[in-house]
Amino acid sequence: MNKKCPICYGEDTYLKNQRMSLHQCNTCDHTFTVIDRVEEETYEEDYYLKAHKNWFANPDFKLFENVYNTAKCILGKEKIRLADVGCGQGAFLKHLQSKFKADAPELNGIDIIKNEHPGIKFESGDFLEMKFDVGYNIITSFMVIEHVIDPHLFINKMVESIPNNGVIVVNTINNGSLIYRVARFLNNLGFPTSHDRLYNHHHLQHYTNKSLKTLLEMEGVEVVKIENHNYQLKAVDVPNGSAFMMSFYKLMVAGMFAVSSVLNLGHHQTLYCKKK
Ligand SMILES: [Zn+2]
Repeated sequence: MNKKCPICYGEDTYLKNQRMSLHQCNTCDHTFTVIDRVEEETYEEDYYLKAHKNWFANPDFKLFENVYNTAKCILGKEKIRLADVGCGQGAFLKHLQSKFKADAPELNGIDIIKNEHPGIKFESGDFLEMKFDVGYNIITSFMVIEHVIDPHLFINKMVESIPNNGVIVVNTINNGSLIYRVARFLNNLGFPTSHDRLYNHHHLQHYTNKSLKTLLEMEGVEVVKIENHNYQLKAVDVPNGSAFMMSFYKLMVAGMFAVSSVLNLGHHQTLYCKKK
C-alpha cells in the first residue's frame, strides 16, 4: 500500500528507493523516509561533538545575519523577541547577541539539551509540549524540520507560539539542490556513496522548495521569501577515508557549490513566512 505523504497527506506516492526506505510524493514533490521508531536518532552531546564536528565548529555567521536582518525587515518596527527552536548550543543566538547589540533583541533558545549563557534565556525540553506566555514575534528553526516525524505538528506549534504578523523562519536541506540531483544521478549509475550519505536515516524529511512551501501554507502562514544557498566549505563533514579521497570529495563539493549558486540550486533552503 502507498504511504501517505506527511506533507500534503496525499496518497499518490511510490517507493522510490527500497534500500534507503525512501518514498516520493507525486503531488507535492516531497521525499520521505519511513523507518521503525527504534531506529530514530537521539540528539545527545555526541551529535554535536562527533558526527557533525565540522558543521558545528563552523557556524554560518553570514546566514545568521541574513536571517536576522530579513526577519526584522518583514516584522517591521516592533522590538524583537526571538525564539530559536532546536537551538543546539545556541550559536545563532550568541552571534545575534554580539552582532546586534544596538537592537537589544530579546533572545530565547529551546532545545532538548541544556544551555546557559548570560543575556539569553534557554529552555530545555520538548518544544511540542512547552507552553509559552512570552509573546515571541520571530521564531526560527535551523536544520531541525528534516528530523521530525510529523512536520505539521512542529510547524503548527511554531505558528501558535507567535501572534498575527509574527515571522517564522525555517531552514533545512534542499532536496531539489544540485548536490542531491547529482547524488541521485550517480546512484542510478551504480555509485551510491553520496546518495546514501545524503539520505541517511538521520534525515526523515527531504524537502524541495515546493514541499516546504506546501507545508507552511497548509499551516496558515504566508511564505514571503524563499532562499536557496550554500555554506562555508570548512563546515562540510566529509566521509572518513584516505587523505586523497577526502580532498577529492571537498573539491567536488566546492565545484557543485559554485555552479549551484549560479543556478539557484543551493544545498540548503530558508523560507521566511508571516502569520496572517
Ligand atoms: Zn505530498
